[in-house]
Amino acid sequence: MPLNPGATSAPGRARDNKTGSWRVFKPEFSNEKCNKCGTCMLLCPEVCIDEDKDGYPVVDYDYCKGCGLCAEECPKDAIEMKKEEK
Ligand code: SF4
Ligand code: SF4
Repeated sequence: MPLNPGATSAPGRARDNKTGSWRVFKPEFSNEKCNKCGTCMLLCPEVCIDEDKDGYPVVDYDYCKGCGLCAEECPKDAIEMKKEEK
C-alpha cells in the first residue's frame, strides 16, 4: 500500500493501557541531586512524570514503561534505572 504523505498516526502514549506492566527497569529519582529543571517531565513519552508540591518529579508507575529516556536526559544524574522486582 502506498504511503499517504498527509497521514497522521495516533499519539504514542497509551492512556488506555497501563504500560507499567511492560517495564523491566524502573526509574528511581534522587531529590538530593534534582534541580527541578523539569526536563524529565517534558521528555517522558508516557507523560507520566508530574511534580509534587515542592516541584520534585513523581512518577505514575502505572504508566511508566521503563524506557529510560528521563534518566538518559537528566542533567544532574538524578535518575537511576533499576531492575524491576516482580
Ligand atoms: S531532569 Fe533530573 S534534574 Fe531535571 S527535574 Fe528531572 S530529575 Fe530533576
Ligand atoms: S522511564 Fe522515564 S521517560 Fe520512560 S516512561 Fe518511565 S518515567 Fe517516562
